[in-house]
Amino acid sequence: MKLSVIGTGYVGLVTGVGFADRGNNVICVDNDPVKLDKLKKGIVPIYEPGLEIIFERNIEKGRITFTDNLTNAVENSEIIFLCLPTPQGGDGAADLSYVLNTVDDIIKIIIKKNITANKIVVTKSTVPVGTCRKIKNVLESKNINHVDVVSNPEFLREGFAVEDFRKPDRIVIGSDSQEALDIIKQLYEPFVKQGNPIFEMNFESSELTKYASNSYLAARITFMNELANLCEKVGANVDLVRQGMGSDSRIGKRFLFPGVGYGGSCFPKDVKALIKTSRDFKSPLSILEKVDQVNEYQKTVLVEKVKKHFKGDIKGKHFALWGLSFKPNTDDMRAASSIVIINKLLESGAVVTAYDPAAVETAKFYFGNKINYAPDEYAALKNADALLIVTEWNEFRNPDFDIIKRELKSPLIFDGRNTLDPDYMKKIGFQYYSIGR
Ligand code: NAD
Repeated sequence: MKLSVIGTGYVGLVTGVGFADRGNNVICVDNDPVKLDKLKKGIVPIYEPGLEIIFERNIEKGRITFTDNLTNAVENSEIIFLCLPTPQGGDGAADLSYVLNTVDDIIKIIIKKNITANKIVVTKSTVPVGTCRKIKNVLESKNINHVDVVSNPEFLREGFAVEDFRKPDRIVIGSDSQEALDIIKQLYEPFVKQGNPIFEMNFESSELTKYASNSYLAARITFMNELANLCEKVGANVDLVRQGMGSDSRIGKRFLFPGVGYGGSCFPKDVKALIKTSRDFKSPLSILEKVDQVNEYQKTVLVEKVKKHFKGDIKGKHFALWGLSFKPNTDDMRAASSIVIINKLLESGAVVTAYDPAAVETAKFYFGNKINYAPDEYAALKNADALLIVTEWNEFRNPDFDIIKRELKSPLIFDGRNTLDPDYMKKIGFQYYSIGR
């Protein structure tokens, strides 16, 4: 099929490459000249494991191209995927300007070029309930009845995006056009050969499924974060409680790991946007209001532990920080807990030297020269008063403790992701703080 993908970020690039790899012809459109320049030179502009090899394969085969020319993309594709940002707006609502402005541009192109061929506009961006119907209404108000709209929320996880796109747990598609649903279903058939379902529904259910999924996962993590804080007070070990709970098949093992709060480009903004929707429709999701609030608090608990250890005064203290990205295997720092943690340390007059396997360049955008950047994890430790672990990259799970001891002023670790074993840390002479243990 002939496709275009508008917005070539974490979702759009994986989508474009993923569809091209199944033999479709894909035109990727982006308006960021720096990103486009890299893509055209055959460089993947984001860190996403496994993406490069499929990207190169499909460029070689000529199945994927990159451009800023929306007109060309609209003219030459049957299906137009919108993978545009929907960041948090001022009042918590999703900012739909990228999506709706692009829809306006597409309409102008269709009218100006007198395009009469059938097309489908697919929203893959996470958009609040009502967005697809709004797009459909705008199209109809311009007498464009040959363009259908489909909601197709994306569930991929950064860090596992390629695998998730190739083998999705499920595909959700929503539309008022059965013909459009059938075409999108056909497009996805090669990805669900093992029998994973494609769910067809109306616009509203499809849009809400995405927000419900992210918000539920955020709530699950937040429950464990609050429970971990209680564990510390009552002398319980959250790891043991988690194992005991998670073995119940009604509960399951995943998303029960406490830490310093969830971050990223999705959970924080999606929780806030769903809260806004629930308020707008006067059907409160009060549980989510609490989730959002508790998560903000949770981002501060590690620094509170640090301050308590140093009797409230960390001015002039030097901290090594491992992990900047909002989670492992990505360079994405949007709404990362590391941002809150570093800002809190800096506000208190501390000095920070950070290391991350992928996100150092991203961090420079957020912090410039306010913090120091180390070329590797051990270099970050030199003369530091303590080590803070903020992102659970695998390479931090079994480090060389002799080097850590040698480089730190004293053997002191604050682990915000429970990456290390408290008993072992004690045995080898570290003072070790973690979450809920
Ligand atoms: P992103 O910021 O990484 O990518 C968006 C891209 O759109 C950028 O490359 C930007 O340059 C481009 N862009 C902006 N305006 C444009 C325009 N007018 N024309 C062409 N290109 C334009 O965002 P993302 O993380 O890929 O997220 C996109 C959407 O997918 C959001 O709604 C997000 O909530 C949703 N989503 C994201 C993830 C994720 O893990 N990142 C997962 C599921 C869903």
